[in-house]
Amino acid sequence: MNGRRRVIVVGGGVAGITAALDCAQAGAQVTLLEVRPRLGGAAYSFEREGLLLDNGQHVFLRCCTAYRALLERLGSSGRVSLQSRLEIPVLRPGHRLAVLRRNRLPAPLHLAGALARYPHIDRSARLRAMLTARRLAGLELSSAIELESANEETLGSWLSAQGESPESIARLWDLIALPTLNLPAERASLSLGAFVLKTGLLQSKDAGDIGFHAQPLSEVLGRPALRALREAGVEVRLSWRAEHILREGGGLQVRSNGFALDADAVIVAVPHARAATLLEDLLGSACEDYARLGSSPIVNVHVVYDRRVSDIEFAAGVDTPVQYVFDRSAAVGLREGQYLAVSLSGAYAEMEMNGEELRERYLEALAELFPLARDAEVRLFAVSREHAATFAAVPGSSAARPLAQTALEGLVLAGAWTDTGWPATLEGAARSGHAAADAVLATLRVEHERSEFGGEVQATVTGDLSPVGDAP
Ligand SMILES: Cc1cc2nc3c(=O)[nH]c(=O)nc-3n(C[C@H](O)[C@H](O)[C@H](O)COP(=O)(O)OP(=O)(O)OC[C@H]3O[C@@H](n4cnc5c(N)ncnc54)[C@H](O)[C@@H]3O)c2cc1C
Repeated sequence: MNGRRRVIVVGGGVAGITAALDCAQAGAQVTLLEVRPRLGGAAYSFEREGLLLDNGQHVFLRCCTAYRALLERLGSSGRVSLQSRLEIPVLRPGHRLAVLRRNRLPAPLHLAGALARYPHIDRSARLRAMLTARRLAGLELSSAIELESANEETLGSWLSAQGESPESIARLWDLIALPTLNLPAERASLSLGAFVLKTGLLQSKDAGDIGFHAQPLSEVLGRPALRALREAGVEVRLSWRAEHILREGGGLQVRSNGFALDADAVIVAVPHARAATLLEDLLGSACEDYARLGSSPIVNVHVVYDRRVSDIEFAAGVDTPVQYVFDRSAAVGLREGQYLAVSLSGAYAEMEMNGEELRERYLEALAELFPLARDAEVRLFAVSREHAATFAAVPGSSAARPLAQTALEGLVLAGAWTDTGWPATLEGAARSGHAAADAVLATLRVEHERSEFGGEVQATVTGDLSPVGDAP
């Protein structure tokens, strides 16, 4: 048996794209299968009245080093912007705009001024929040016992135990918890919540600077990924649904609709519910855990006005149904008017509302925040709903997240839902892709430099890529 080792990647989201690039760069013969006619997975754009709207407003942080390295690899660094200093404008009906802005002091002092001046909670709540942030920064999740109890507790109950009031949780802590965990603090796991707050805000002063996609996601991710994969020698098969994966002739085989593809290794980079059904025959009861991860929805409301109604580029909202609002006019090349996108995480209630109800609720809420919107004509109103945007980051979820390597040699998992330590994010997906490629290349005994999930990711081939023996 001669020739390059064959790797099939199932799923063309950020995880699959990253894994395929790593394997191809290490010299494997890679085929990527994607059921949809485009790449990008959960981060995509759709066309409405000549505009490319994103299914959801995707932001990232400076500390998302694996995702930023992927953007670099795709040639997309110039299609995103990154704040030079964390700044979150916070809108509240009937109040002046507040801005949570870090200073240049080292962490955790970089947030002290922002918290001390934050007007949407009272003075004693601000002092308490500073103490809570200090305790959070010092929260060690290294011992097994602490980790286990943090996995079983909610971020909300821990915050309450520190004396944080429901008001402070809603007006301060949920500004971070909701968009990063896709759940409010009262439902989110303490271990994931503490990870996000520590990694993104408390450990280094610039980690939480926010990155935005300055063009539609399809132009930043989907199309550049297709180009980069093809340039790397990956065969990309779009509109190809993997229906079965089975052991065949000492290797693995992926089947769809009468076609069969053989491989030495398969990376399954599909959402967890899909992975559970796809791998049931091969992995048996191990897959039951994947399905237990559940899901959490995100809804986005898109409004194009006939005129500019606001000067903000993005802002959070408190005491309003608007969680986050983004001005996407420039990103979609709108020449006249203004396009505002409202992002709603953990949007269980909004998933139940029909288009008319959402229209009534959000046009009113936007008009309350931006009075000019009252007289503006709405040129376009659209809603995008993702019922399973992420797994549900509830207590206990960490235990259900599998590592990349499965019990079957050559069969590897990737995806933001796998055990990356990160919540379901672009960064988690990119990291999982690297982990999956590392596992596959190690199994195939392809010598390569393991990625460090940061900076420029190299997978340099130093050995012979011909097969070293039949797979068991
Ligand atoms: C609305 C929304 C907003 C979000 N906002 C943010 C944000 O602001 N910041 C952030 O970091 N993250 C955000 N996320 C989360 C982030 O988008 C995901 O965590 C990440 O994109 C997941 O990537 P993935 O590759 O793991 O999975 P996916 O992107 O789900 O990719 C899996 C791919 O597998 C394909 N597939 C499934 N079954 C098959 C099959 N049988 N055969 C072939 N292909 C198959 C799917 O079509 C899909 O393309 C958001 C998600 C959503 C939905």
